[in-house]
Amino acid sequence: MDEQRGTSKPPEWLVGLGIMALVGLGYFAGAWLGVTQTVSPDGKAIIWPPNAVVLAALLLLPVRRWAWVVPAVMAAELAADLPTFPLWAALSFGMVNLFEVFLAASLIRWFTGPRFDFDSLARGGYFLLFGPLLAAGVAALFGAGIYRGLLGEEGGYLAHWQMWWFGDALGLLVLTPLLVILIRQHRELLRGWTGGRVLEAGALLVLLAAMATVLLTTGRAEDGGHPLALVLLLPPVLWAAARFGVAGAALLVALVAATAVVWMVHVSWPMYGVDPEGAILAMQEFLAVTAITGIGVGLFMREIESQRMRLRLFERAMKAINDAVIITDARRRDNPIIWVNDTFEKLFGYSREEVMGRNCRFLQHGNNEQPGVQEVREALRREEPVQTLVRNYRRDGEPLWIQLSLAPVCDAHNRVTHYVGVQRDLTEFKRSEEDLEQRVAERTAALQEANQRLERIASTDPLTGIANRWYFLEVAERELLRRARNSSPVSLLMLDLDHFKQVNDTWGHPVGDRVLHAVADTLRDSLRPLDLSGRFGGEEFLVLLPGTHAEEAREIAERLRRAVAAMAIEHEGESVRVTVSIGVAISDGERDIDGLICKADNALYRAKSEGRDRVVIDHPGAAPE
Ligand code: GH3
Ligand code: MG
Ligand code: MG
Repeated sequence: MDEQRGTSKPPEWLVGLGIMALVGLGYFAGAWLGVTQTVSPDGKAIIWPPNAVVLAALLLLPVRRWAWVVPAVMAAELAADLPTFPLWAALSFGMVNLFEVFLAASLIRWFTGPRFDFDSLARGGYFLLFGPLLAAGVAALFGAGIYRGLLGEEGGYLAHWQMWWFGDALGLLVLTPLLVILIRQHRELLRGWTGGRVLEAGALLVLLAAMATVLLTTGRAEDGGHPLALVLLLPPVLWAAARFGVAGAALLVALVAATAVVWMVHVSWPMYGVDPEGAILAMQEFLAVTAITGIGVGLFMREIESQRMRLRLFERAMKAINDAVIITDARRRDNPIIWVNDTFEKLFGYSREEVMGRNCRFLQHGNNEQPGVQEVREALRREEPVQTLVRNYRRDGEPLWIQLSLAPVCDAHNRVTHYVGVQRDLTEFKRSEEDLEQRVAERTAALQEANQRLERIASTDPLTGIANRWYFLEVAERELLRRARNSSPVSLLMLDLDHFKQVNDTWGHPVGDRVLHAVADTLRDSLRPLDLSGRFGGEEFLVLLPGTHAEEAREIAERLRRAVAAMAIEHEGESVRVTVSIGVAISDGERDIDGLICKADNALYRAKSEGRDRVVIDHPGAAPE
C-alpha cells in the first residue's frame, strides 16, 4: 500500500526541483516586471512583485518544503540584479527579501492554521497584518539601509524605507492573493459557469478594458489632463468582488494595478502634474486601497454567503425535522415566540402567524401547575437546558403528551438571547403505554379472581360447601401451632352420623347427600366465627374450636348433637331424621393435628360403643359419660 503510493508519487528531489524552477522563474519574472515595467522614469519602483510569488509559494507549500525556496530566490535575485548591482548588494537584497517572506509566512501560518487560503475575513486580516504591513515594513528597514548606507544612494533613509516598504507591500497585496486563490480555489472557480455568469464576467472585463483604453490613450501629461479619475477603476473591482467573490476581486485588482501602473509609467508621467514622489505615493495609496477594499469585500461576501448557506441548511433541517421546534427571544419581555417550524403548525393546529409574539404557556391551556412546567420554569430562571414531560394542548383542546427539550442560546458575551425548544409528541406512545397498564391491571384482577376460585375449589368440599379435609387439616395445624405458642387450648370435635348406611339404604343415596348437606349447614350455623367445620370424609365431620376448654367444648358438642337430632329433611311427605355421635379431644399443648384427631377418634369410638347419639370427651381425667 505504502510502496504503491511511494511509486506513484514523484521523489522529493524532483518535487524540490519543480518548486525551485517555478519559484525561481516566478521571482525572476516578478523582478523583471518590477524593474522594467513599474519603475518610474526617474528609477523608482512603484510596485515590487517578486516577493509576492515567494510568499504565495510559502503559504501554499507544506513547511517541510520551504527550504527549496531559498536557493531559487537567491539564484533569481542574482540573475536579476547582477547587471545593475555588485554581487554583495545582490546577495543582501536576496537575503532581505527572503527574510521578509519567511517572516510573513511564518506569522500568517502560525495564526491561521496548517492550510492557508483566502477564504475568511480573519485569514485575510492576518495576511494583511503580517505580510504587507509588518514583514514588508521590517524588511524595508534593512533594504533602505543597503540602499542608503552601503550603496550610497541619494535621498533620506526614511524615504528609502518608505519606498521599499510600499513597493513590497503593494506587490504582496496585489499578487499573493491572486496566486493563492488561483491554486487553492481552482476547482471552485471552474464550477457554475452558467450563460448568465459568463455574460456578466464578459461585460465586466469589457468595461475594464474600455476604461483602460481611455486611460492609456488619453490624458497625457503634456495634454494637461486626466480625463478618467483613477478612482473610477474601483467600482469594477467591487462589482467583481460582489458577484465573483474574492477570486474575481483578486483578478480585477491585478488588472487594475497593471493598467494603472502602465498608464502612469508610460503614459501620464508624472501623474496629475504633481511631483514624481507625490505621484508614486498617490498611485501606491490608490492601489493599496483598491486591493484591500476589493479583496476585503470579496472575503466579506464569501463569509456572508457561507453564513447564508449554513442558515439555509439549518432552516431546511429544522423544517424537515419531525418534532415541533420553537424559538423564543429571551431578550424581549415575556420570552415571545419568534419562529416555529412546519411540524409545530401540524402538531398543535396553530398557524405560524397566530403564535408569533406569544409566550409558550398558552400551549398548556391553563394547566400550568404540572411538575413538568414547573421544571421548565425553574430551568428558565437558571438559564439552563432542561428535558421533561409536559401536558400541552392542541388548538382544539386535545391534550398531548410532549417530551420537551429546551436549551438556551447565548451570544458572544455568553448572555442568553434565545431559547430553542424541541417538542416530541409522545401521546401515542403514552396511550399505548396506558393501554398496556390497563390491560395488565385487568389481567391481574382476572388472575386474582381465578386464583381465589381455585383456592375455594381446592379448600371446599363440593357436596357440603364447608372446608374439605385437606384445607381443614392445614388450617387446624396452623391454629394448633399458634395456640401452642400462646398456651391457649384448642378443642377438636369428630362427628360421625349414626347408622347412616340405613339412611342411604332406606331413602336412597341422593337423600343421604341432602342429609350430609343439611348437617354441614347446621354445623356452620351453630358455630362461632372463629370456629372451623370440615368434612373429614364420608359422613364424618370435624370441628375445630380454638381457645375452647373442655367444658365449653362439651357444651358446644352437645348443642351440635341436639341441633342435628332436631333436623328433619323432608322427602316425599316424610321426615328423614338422623343422630350423630361426637368425640371431643382437647389439645394438651400438642402441635400435631394427627394426635388430636386420634384422640377425638377414640372418643368417638367410645360414643358409638356406648350407644350413639352422644358426646364423649377424651382428655386426661375426663369423666366417662
Ligand atoms: P355407624 O357409623 O353408626 O356405626 O353406622 P354407619 O352406617 O354410619 O356406618 P359407617 O359410618 O361405617 O357408614 C358409612 C356410610 O356412609 C357408608 C356409605 O353408605 C355412607 N356414605 C359415605 N359417604 C357418603 C356420601 O357421600 N353420600 C351418601 N349418601 N352416603 C355416604
Ligand atoms: Mg362413618
Ligand atoms: Mg356412621
